[in-house]
Amino acid sequence: MKHFEVIKTDPSCGARTGRLTTRQGVVNTQIFMPVATQATVKAVTQRDLKECGAECLLSNTYHLYLRPGLKVMEHFGGINGFMNHDIPVLTDSGGFQVFSLSKLRKITEDGVIFQSHIDGSTHYFTPEKVIDFEKSIGSAIWTCLDVCVKNPATRAEAAEGLRKTMNWAKRAKKHFLEVTKDMEEEKRPLLFGIVQGSVYTDLRKQAAEAMAELEPDGFAIGGLSVGETKPQMLEALQAAIENLPKDKPVYFMGLGTPEDLWDCAELGTDMFDCVLPTRNARNGQVMSEDGKYYIKNACYRLDDRPIDPECSCYCCRNYSRGYISHLYKAHEILASELMSIHNIHFLINQAHKMREAVAAGKFREAKKAFRERYFQDRH
Ligand SMILES: [Zn+2]
Repeated sequence: MKHFEVIKTDPSCGARTGRLTTRQGVVNTQIFMPVATQATVKAVTQRDLKECGAECLLSNTYHLYLRPGLKVMEHFGGINGFMNHDIPVLTDSGGFQVFSLSKLRKITEDGVIFQSHIDGSTHYFTPEKVIDFEKSIGSAIWTCLDVCVKNPATRAEAAEGLRKTMNWAKRAKKHFLEVTKDMEEEKRPLLFGIVQGSVYTDLRKQAAEAMAELEPDGFAIGGLSVGETKPQMLEALQAAIENLPKDKPVYFMGLGTPEDLWDCAELGTDMFDCVLPTRNARNGQVMSEDGKYYIKNACYRLDDRPIDPECSCYCCRNYSRGYISHLYKAHEILASELMSIHNIHFLINQAHKMREAVAAGKFREAKKAFRERYFQDRH
């Protein structure tokens, strides 16, 4: 059974549309996936996620393992039963969180020992254990434990991180095959390998080639959008994509500005996730086709237009900028909810626009049109 099908590639660039079939349903690409770190997309109900058009969510092995714990996940029949929705979920392996959140971590050949950021308790992740954790979480798409090097990293540090990541990926794949061997093909989860290599294009190429040999169901690009320059990010991404098979999905981990989505989709990235739309919403920043802005600014006090007059989300169908500006300034929690719904809808809609552009064979023109309006900055 083929899990990913490329529907169309734009003639002018690498942008493409596709269809990823998971055990929990079909995920059309390009796609933006809202982030449900703690088994919730912050301030957004399942009903609203569906209305926003969410086709896949991103959740996190590290967080769910620590809290509520895997017993709870198993009790509820996995994350979909726990959250009570049928949207497919992709779980990050926890590699990034172990390296960014936990205290006193120690990486060995075998795995990583770390202290919980919640209570300081000691834990030990290995590539095999993470596969078992993802089985308990019951997500549709699993990822292999990886080593995330800091940015900037020396070439030697990046190469060493990559060496361990690849060894771990081999072990993860082997264990994945054992864990899933009795599952029917349509019931089995998908496994994505994480391509590392920091900003070094030769390491990205090497990582892509080595990961391709392992034949995972898809490729996640890790360790980018972590503080490197935009040209460095795009070069590293391109070096990876050029050396990956074209018949598998490519997922850029943690990228969420609309302009970055367009730029990376142009190179052939299919899937995106980021906390940015909900985090920015809680800080009062919203996106519109005419640029991003802060709702608290005095000019919106008497503005009876919706956040984005072209948006069809629940927030824009029902509320004015003036009202939301008031809610935000009064620290009313509804402000976070409404702006989160809008920002998520906006990025999902950008992915829909990309699909339409590829279908029409006009990706580059559509990207140019997006940029001309978005950076003109007039709302
Ligand atoms: Zn809206």
